[in-house]
Amino acid sequence: MNSVIEKKVTGVFDEIVQRNPGESEFHQAVKETLDSLVPVLEKYPEFAHQKMIERICEPERQIIFRVPWTDDKNQVHINRGFRVEFNSALGPYKGGLRFHPSVYLGIIKFLGFEQIFKNALTGLPIGGGKGGADFNPKGKSDAEIMRFCQSFMTELYRHIGEHTDVPAGDIGVGGREIGYLFGQYKRITNRYEAGTITGKGLDWGGSLVRREATGYGSAFFAREMLRTRKDTIEGKRCVVSGSGNVSIYTIEKIHELGGKVVACSDSNGYIFHEKGIDLAVLKQLKEVERKRIKDYLLFHKDARYVEKGSIWDVPCQLALPSATQNEISGKSAALLVKNGCIAVCEGANMPTTPAGIRVFQEANILFAPGKAANAGGVATSTLEMMQNASRDSWTFEYTEDKLAKIMTGIHNLCYEKAEEFGSPGNYMKGANIAGFIRVANAMLAMGV
Ligand code: GLU
Repeated sequence: MNSVIEKKVTGVFDEIVQRNPGESEFHQAVKETLDSLVPVLEKYPEFAHQKMIERICEPERQIIFRVPWTDDKNQVHINRGFRVEFNSALGPYKGGLRFHPSVYLGIIKFLGFEQIFKNALTGLPIGGGKGGADFNPKGKSDAEIMRFCQSFMTELYRHIGEHTDVPAGDIGVGGREIGYLFGQYKRITNRYEAGTITGKGLDWGGSLVRREATGYGSAFFAREMLRTRKDTIEGKRCVVSGSGNVSIYTIEKIHELGGKVVACSDSNGYIFHEKGIDLAVLKQLKEVERKRIKDYLLFHKDARYVEKGSIWDVPCQLALPSATQNEISGKSAALLVKNGCIAVCEGANMPTTPAGIRVFQEANILFAPGKAANAGGVATSTLEMMQNASRDSWTFEYTEDKLAKIMTGIHNLCYEKAEEFGSPGNYMKGANIAGFIRVANAMLAMGV
């Protein structure tokens, strides 16, 4: 660590840690990004003069609100809701809502920060934001989920809009929750502003492929990375962590492209099935019955369930972490590499710890950061906004083709920027650099 710029960046980071105490996930996301930006600030001194990194790390607006709701036994509960409107240089704030007991400001800020760069990489006109609540949807009845979503939107509605801020789903927020949220927005505002929220049902303004988009996009990104080493997904043994929306459609596309996914998981444990995960069973359990993954055994006696174990113990060539942040430790990463893993493609946001990333980079295996690999979700949300704006609906084939082209574009941009700034093959640096340059240029043009 020598150059003046490197010292400056370290100083900025230290100040961010001081100004945002206790927000470890946010610090982690900022550190990874700022470290990548040193060569950019060296090449473009105007970014440093205009304090672009300081400005981009400070959210434009942070909203924290009370969410009171009543359970089925008539007991009142209070949760905390968040919406961090991080950066609107490229367009309206865009990003999902996460309902999970671990949610606090540091998680929403890390996600919102990642979203700025991810959204910029898509090349589409969307800014970055994120929201959510420390609400645990597990074990709640449908009516409780509805009342919670209605209460959440009763405050959120005043902050969002198709040209202002456009929420969508994330962990704990799927089609059902989007329906309740949109319904309440429509009721309060008396306006059918479909473009205010994405991930809607197909009959009421949703887009084909949105449900599949994050997972399909991640598989497309893995295909493009392997192509640079003259390799393909065909015949590859894969592990996909998680069993939510991202995981299910990653598995679907990996199978379509000829790979075999042998393991997936939920927060209680993982399933290993040498024959390959039976997607119809997984969809039935998770999308229809909302059951635990353990019940997979009821359908396949030859599968194995490992309670509380690490799914990364399962040897694979291609790892697609698609559950949550910091799920791959340095130790898990080392085991993956030892067991022959050649590529990692992050379907979740920041699923690899900094120690894990170091292991992958030292081993020179292909590593796609979430902000590039999982951008298909938000990209297709934007395709949904386009259809809403023109009161149109596109076919599955047309929309999927657009998604595939966007993912190839993101892949190539990351690849080229990594090379241009002296780190060939480093998709993490390429993604951070390409995303930052686009946002910083827009901020520069618009003045302080
Ligand atoms: N939550 C997703 C993400 O992490 C999707 C956001 C969106 O569609 O707005 O990118």
